Amino acid sequence: MLKHKTALVTGSTSGIGLGIAKALARQGANIVLNGFGDVDGARAEIAALGVDVLYHGADMSRPAEIEDMMRAAADRFGRVDILVNNAGIQHVAAIEDFPPERWDAIIAINLSSAFHTTRLALPAMKAANWGRIINVASVHGLVASAQKSAYVAAKHGIVGLTKVVALETATTGVTCNAICPGWVLTPLVQKQVDAKAAALGISNEEATRLLLGEKEPSMQFTTPEELGELAVFFCSPAANNVRGVAWNMDGGWAAQ
Ligand code: NAD
Repeated sequence: MLKHKTALVTGSTSGIGLGIAKALARQGANIVLNGFGDVDGARAEIAALGVDVLYHGADMSRPAEIEDMMRAAADRFGRVDILVNNAGIQHVAAIEDFPPERWDAIIAINLSSAFHTTRLALPAMKAANWGRIINVASVHGLVASAQKSAYVAAKHGIVGLTKVVALETATTGVTCNAICPGWVLTPLVQKQVDAKAAALGISNEEATRLLLGEKEPSMQFTTPEELGELAVFFCSPAANNVRGVAWNMDGGWAAQ
């Protein structure tokens, strides 16, 4: 379905971004990979699906590096057809203890980077009259949790940005939507499980059950594979008129 299209997925060396990149690659899209850590492993997993992969190591907190990445993607593939704004970090602390530099980093990576990639990708998408912008927000784009001020503010912000972009593209073949996962067992969440286990002196298994039990009625993690299939749906012709939604896949978290 996505042969001859190019998908740029920020933060795609791990977790949800890698899951989405692989799902889009399975549909034939070439992939622009971004993020830190095990770049070679991620590149190999995607290339094994038979598509072209370009890696760019732009730091999503740095607009000049984002501009360079968008230029490199256009130079290699002509344009970015599918933009997935996924890179994100977390910091958990009460607001009076929240380090200001962590606040700035979370707002830059989880929110402002999507403004920059979107403003740079849109002109070519509009010229082609086809494009998909998918923002990986969070259930924290819809509801709050204590100790996550910067994350919740950034995720509510990206849901708002999604709606504005959807309105500004409403009469074109470009759509913009957000995905709002509940708990997904990635390194970002494993850190929170580890912190809970250490703080309460309990096993990893017990900490996982507690974490799910506090928020997620299904008591099950959403998987990167399931989120990848939702991204594929947003790219399908059936989703041509799905615009500005914040679609949660959260085991019932936001239904409470
Ligand atoms: P992860 O830690 O597995 O992956 C994060 C990715 O972002 C990695 O590829 C990392 O290298 C990259 N990244 C981090 N900082 C970066 C920077 N400055 N520049 C470029 N890349 C950077 O985390 P994940 O759980 O897969 O999270 C992905 C997205 O999903 C985030 O936006 C997160 O907020 C969101 N999300 C996660 C969950 C969850 O339960 N895991 C739930 C809801 C939303």
